[in-house]
Amino acid sequence: METDCLFCRIVAGDIPATVVRETERTLAFRDIGPKAPVHVLVIPKEHYVDVATLGAGDPALAGEVLATAAVVAEDEGLLGDGFRLMFNTGAYGSQEVFHVHAHLLGGAPLGPMLAG
Ligand code: AMP
Repeated sequence: METDCLFCRIVAGDIPATVVRETERTLAFRDIGPKAPVHVLVIPKEHYVDVATLGAGDPALAGEVLATAAVVAEDEGLLGDGFRLMFNTGAYGSQEVFHVHAHLLGGAPLGPMLAG
């Protein structure tokens, strides 16, 4: 655990979150500022800065993050109409929290992939 990492502190239970699914190595919780009717963040409990370091460091865990996202998508009723799953990464990706997280977005048409 990184003590100065927001999402590590959520994993530790120091900061509250609305958890929708938990597995041994992953956690899914609602985004505090939802950008769609369904907006869930899916993270590995272990600290990795971004999807590149996670994918290189522990590909099996990266797969578990995707598997958790898929179960949450089904639980949230997103499979029929579809959804978006994305990892903002680094400065150009506008990443704000440096503990890798997948944004699971759905529940309404999401529009074009990029604004502008
Ligand atoms: P990113 O820009 O990809 O790093 O996204 C970070 C996300 O974390 C944003 O969508 C925030 O709304 C979300 N967020 C920040 N703090 C919290 C929190 N305490 N609980 C849940 N989501 C959060």
